[in-house]
Amino acid sequence: MRAAVQAALLLLFTLSIGCGDSGSPGARQADAKTAPAAAAPAHRTAAAEVDGPRIIAAEADSSNWMTHGRTYGEQRFSSLDQINAGNVVGLGLAWYFDLKTTRGTEATPLVVDGVMYVPGLWNVIYALDAKSGKELWRNDPKTRRDWGRYTCCDAISRGVATWRGKIIAATLDGRLRALDAATGELDWEVQATDPGQPYSITGAPRVVNGKVIIGNGGAEYGVRGYVTAYDAETGKQIWRFYTVPGDPSKGFESPVMEMAAKTWSGEWWKVSGGGGTAWDSFAFDPELNLLYIGTGNGGPWPRDTRSPGGGDNLFLASIVAVNADTGEYIWHYQTVPGENWDFTAAQQMILADLPIGGTQRKVLMQAPKNGFFYVLDRATGELLSAEKIVPITWASHVDPETGRPVEIKENLYTEKAKLVSPGPNGAHDWQPMSYHPGTGLVYIPVHEMSWVYSRAPEFKLKPWTFSIGQNPDAPPPPEAANAVSKGALLAWDPARQKQAWRVELGGPWNGGVLSTAGNLVVEGAADGRFVIYRADNGDKLWEIPIHTGAVAGPITYTVEGEQYIAVAAGWGGALALMGGGFGDVHSTPARVLAFKLGGKVSLPPAPPPRAMPEPPSVTAATDVIKQGEALYAPNCGNCHGFNAISGGNMPDLRYMTLETHQAFRDIVLGGKLAANGMVSFADRLSDADAEAIHGYIIKRAHETRNEE
Ligand code: CA
Repeated sequence: MRAAVQAALLLLFTLSIGCGDSGSPGARQADAKTAPAAAAPAHRTAAAEVDGPRIIAAEADSSNWMTHGRTYGEQRFSSLDQINAGNVVGLGLAWYFDLKTTRGTEATPLVVDGVMYVPGLWNVIYALDAKSGKELWRNDPKTRRDWGRYTCCDAISRGVATWRGKIIAATLDGRLRALDAATGELDWEVQATDPGQPYSITGAPRVVNGKVIIGNGGAEYGVRGYVTAYDAETGKQIWRFYTVPGDPSKGFESPVMEMAAKTWSGEWWKVSGGGGTAWDSFAFDPELNLLYIGTGNGGPWPRDTRSPGGGDNLFLASIVAVNADTGEYIWHYQTVPGENWDFTAAQQMILADLPIGGTQRKVLMQAPKNGFFYVLDRATGELLSAEKIVPITWASHVDPETGRPVEIKENLYTEKAKLVSPGPNGAHDWQPMSYHPGTGLVYIPVHEMSWVYSRAPEFKLKPWTFSIGQNPDAPPPPEAANAVSKGALLAWDPARQKQAWRVELGGPWNGGVLSTAGNLVVEGAADGRFVIYRADNGDKLWEIPIHTGAVAGPITYTVEGEQYIAVAAGWGGALALMGGGFGDVHSTPARVLAFKLGGKVSLPPAPPPRAMPEPPSVTAATDVIKQGEALYAPNCGNCHGFNAISGGNMPDLRYMTLETHQAFRDIVLGGKLAANGMVSFADRLSDADAEAIHGYIIKRAHETRNEE
C-alpha cells in the first residue's frame, strides 16, 4: 500500500491530464438549464437575504451557515449544543440527497433560513429544503467538459456564496455566476479568468463589503495567479491583485508588483506564469477591513528552474493581507521563501483572539502544506509562533527572529532524487480544519506523507499540460523504501503550539472538520465512516457507515428550532482519483447527508462488489502492451487510477463491458462520452496508441480475474 500510494502520487504529480467520466449517471442529468422551482417550504422566509452586517453577526446566528467557513473568520465552529456529547448517541439520518454521481465532492453546503445551497459535479448548483432534503431548484452552468483536462483533481467545487437574494458560484472553466436564490435563474455572469489560458476555479467565492472575492488555480499548467473582486450586484470588476509579478517589459500593475519582481531572478516570465494561485482560502476581518489571501506554489516546482539565480519569489506560498475595498497590499508573510515542493499556503486561514504571553492577541492561524502551524498577528503580519504538527524533513524549524524556515540542506533535491516529508499533498491540504473557542483547540485533518522529488534536467512548459519540472524516471533514492502514508485527526493547542490529543486514522485524505459547543468534533473518514468525537479529549462518541469516504467539511444548522449536522459525502479529490482501493466505498453515489436526534432514515445498502465481465482475449503483443502501459500512466491514470485500479469515483477500466470495449476507440479518440468529461484524446494519442492502451487494460483485467 505504501509503495502504491507513493507510486500513485508520483503519477498524479507528473501527469498531464484531466478527468473524463465514461459511465457515471450524474453527469447525464440536469439537461434543462434551470429546473422549475418547487413550492417554497412553509418555514422559509425570503431567499438568501444575507448582507454584510448579517455575516458579521454570524457567530451569534447559529441557525445558519451563510459563508464558506461559517463566519468571516472561517472558524467552522457553531455555538449550537442541542446535539451534544450527552445525547449524540441518538443521532440518526434525517434525510439524504443524491448528487447523482459516483464522483467525489469537496463542497461545504450553505444554509440560509431553511434552504441549503450546494454545488455538485460540473458546478451544477442545487437548492434543497434543509429540513427534508427536497430539491427546490437546480442550475446547470454547462461547464466545459474539456476543462477537466486542465485541472488536477476533478470537476469539483468547494462551495458557493450568498448575498442579498443571490447565490454566487464559480465554474471550473473560470466563470463567476450570480443566481436568483429563489428560483435558480441566472442574474449575471462574468468570465473571471482569461479563457485563453488553462485557469480553473474550484474554490468558493466570499462576499465582503458587497464585493465577490474569487481566485483561481492552474499553477501546474503555467498560469500567473490573481485574485479579483467583483460588484456582487452587477458583476462589474472592482480590483485585481496579482500574486506574482509578470513580464517587466509590459510594466508592473502596481508598486507592490515591482517590489515582488525584485525577489525573482532570470527571465521567470518566459519559464511559466509563475503560479502563486489563490485556489481556496480567504478570510476577512471587518474591523481591520483586511482581506487575507492564501497563495499557492510556484510553477514549475523546482526553484532553480523557475528563478535560477535564487530569490524568495513573492508572493508564492504566502499569506497576503490587502485592503478589502481596493485590493491594495498591506502586509505579507511568506511560509516558504523560494517555494520548491508544491508547498502551497492556499490552505484555510482561521481568525481568532488567543491569549498569548498574557495578552489577548488578534491572530490568524494556518496549517499550510509545509507541516508547520503558524500563528500570526493579523493586524501586522508579525509571526508569533510556528511549530511542526507532524514529522517533516525539509526544514528543521522556523527561526523566530527572521520568521523564515531553516531548510535542511542535505534533504534538498536536485536532479538526484530525494525522499521528502511532507509531499505535494501536504501535512494538511484543503480539507477544512476547525477552531473551538471553548476548548481553545484547532482540529486538523493531518497527513504524514512523503514523496520522491527530483528536478527534471530540462524544462519547457507544455501549453495546457500539467508541467511541474519533476523527473518521474529518476532512479529512486534508497530511503524511498521508508516512504510513509498515514492520516490522523489532530487536536492542536495553538496558544501553546502543542498537541492536545490525536486520533490515528487508517490512512491519509480524511475529511474536513466541524466543531460545536455541544463538545463535539465531527469528521468523515477516508474509510467510509462519519464520526463524532468529544472536543475536549477526542473520545469517540458516535459513528455511522456512509459507504463513501467523506472529504468535504461538515456543517450544522437549525430549521424550526431543530439542529441538524450535514455533510456532502463523496470520496474524491487528488488522492482519491489515484485509486488504491477503498473496499466498500467503491462506486457509491455522492450524497448530502443530514443527521438529527432521532433521525430514522436509512441509506440504501452499499453497492455490492462488482463482478468483472469477461474481458476480451489478450491479442496485443507483449511490447505493444508495454507501450500501452507507458501511455496509460500519463493519459489515463490520473482519473482512472494507478495501475488501472480506480479509486471508485471514476469507472474502473478493468470492468468495462463488452460494449465499452467495442466502443473504446470511439470513446478515447472519437469523444463519444465527451458529455461526461471524457473528451477526445485524439490531440495526444494516435490510433496505435489507443490500441496499445486498450491492450494494456485488457491484460490488467485478466490479471485481476486471476487474482480473484
Ligand atoms: Ca499545486
